This record gives sequence, C-alpha cells and structure tokens, in this order.
Amino acid sequence: MTTLAVDIGGTKIAAAVCDENDAIIQRWRVPTPMDADAINDNIAKVYHEATAAGHKIKAIGISAAGNVGADRRTLTFAANIPAWVNYDLAENVGKLIDHEVPVIVENDANCAGWGEYVHGAGQGSKNMVALTVGTGLGGAIVINGELFRGSFGMAAEIGHLPMVPDGDHCGCGLRGCAERYTSGTSLENFAKSAIRRRPQDAKRLLELCGGDITKLEGPMVSQAAQEGDVLGLYAFGKIGEWLGRTMAATAAILDPDLFVVGGGVVAVGDILLEPARYNYERFLEGSAYRGHAKIVAATAGQDAGLIGAANLALR
Ligand SMILES: [Zn+2]
Repeated sequence: MTTLAVDIGGTKIAAAVCDENDAIIQRWRVPTPMDADAINDNIAKVYHEATAAGHKIKAIGISAAGNVGADRRTLTFAANIPAWVNYDLAENVGKLIDHEVPVIVENDANCAGWGEYVHGAGQGSKNMVALTVGTGLGGAIVINGELFRGSFGMAAEIGHLPMVPDGDHCGCGLRGCAERYTSGTSLENFAKSAIRRRPQDAKRLLELCGGDITKLEGPMVSQAAQEGDVLGLYAFGKIGEWLGRTMAATAAILDPDLFVVGGGVVAVGDILLEPARYNYERFLEGSAYRGHAKIVAATAGQDAGLIGAANLALR
C-alpha cells in the first residue's frame, strides 16, 4: 500500500510514491506550469506512471502553496496561480484519474509542519508550532497531536500576524506582518540596508555578490555570517529577533511546548536560533514564572512537505 505525495511549489512540482511509513520509494520532479490545467495534467501523468510501475496507490496527498479550505479539497486563493480562486483542485485532478483514489489537498506549510511532527524534530511533542522561514514565513500548528486547521482552513497564518502597526507593506495586502521582518526576503533586506549604512564593514558581503548589491541572496548572507562577518551576523540577529517576538506572540495564544524552525536559512543553526530564543523569552508574558517552549531546528529536510502530505492523505 502506497500513497502518491505531490508538492506544488512556486518553481517545481515534486512528487513521490511513499510506503505505509511515509518513506519515499520513487520520485518525480517537473517545472511548475503557471496554468492550472497543466498542473492537473502533470499530477495525473505522474499518477498513471506510478500505477503503471506497479505501485498500489491508495490516496493522493497534495501540498499546495495557497489557502486551502477546511474541506481539504479547495484552493480559496493562491498568489502564484490566478485560476486557484475557490478552485476544487481535488475534483479537477480526480476527474483526470477517473476518481480511482481520493485526493486530499493541504496547505504547504501545514504539510511541512506535519512532516516534522511525524518524522522530524516535532516527534514526541504534544503542542507544536512549526515555522518555515522561506520567501515568506509559513506556519503549522499541532494541538494535542492533531493538525489544527481552524474553522475555515485559515489557521496558522503566523507569517501574517500584525507585528508592527502601519509597518512595511506585505504581499497579503496588509501592513507590518511578521514575514516582512522574519523571512528569507527580510534577511536580504536587512543585509542590503546594512551594506548601505556601513559600507566600510561590507567588504565580504560585497565580494560574495560580485559588488552588485541587487544580486545579494540569502545563501550569501548565511555564508558570511558563518564566517563571522559582522553585517551577516547583524542581518541574522534582526530576523532572529523578529522570529522570537513572533513566537512570543504565538505563545500568548497557544502556549506550545515546542517551536520547530525550518527553511533554508536555519542551516546557520544558533546564529538564527539564539537571538530567537533570547527575544522569545524577552517578550513572553510572565517569562520568569512559567515553562518555556523549546526552540529547535527542523530535521526532516526538503522532503518534509512530501512526507507530511503522504501521511495526511491516509489520515
Ligand atoms: Zn501579510
């Protein structure tokens, strides 16, 4: 018995056949078309290839970058795919495979967080919050061992907690959202503004981006910070500070025992997590008189979304 897990990202569609323990048996990877019909065709094609290869697929679990309704079928909105407005993705994929197996759709951050919970750093936690620091800031909430979706499927949008009144404009249309201050994008922004203000300290960062500040990317800031570069460390200190503030705000509502932090930037480890821990404690209500959640790096890797989608498809 296997599941087909599909992760529709901004640039690529990753798919995998997973066994009953969510271990990956076979993989596919294709570029993501910006057209909804072409995405459905790709998923159906992978499904037919998987069954032709002899895999007994029991369900398809799709991780999608967008807002997924509580029915776990419908994309209510997605920034990247214009057609995904109140779009029944499960039905549109299902009809291409003659509804041979059920199709379950889940938000990408929820899938990655659930992957961490069942197979990564979240194992053994009772109440967990997972945060994925990527282009934006994704969130997933587990309460009493169950993924918490909210009443309309919109829970865990932690990246859009309003942290700064009238702050920076966010892609969601609001201002001052957490992800404007703690994300891969904001890491680059903090580093760029530091270079402009402190050119005398910017030698290493400018070297890494070939002297063109517009070409500065997150991994360059990570490399500089790991070498001890003062501006690289500053940029991580800033997103770490806002990460900690965001966690404290989250804890005021959910009181979790664990925060799992994922995304490419977490490869720097404590360079990001120590300022997060410090500021979490600093902004936590009653900090000296209460238990503190652990703050750890994700361990399930790039496949967290796929294995989360595979596991959720069977639940
Ligand atoms: Zn926002």
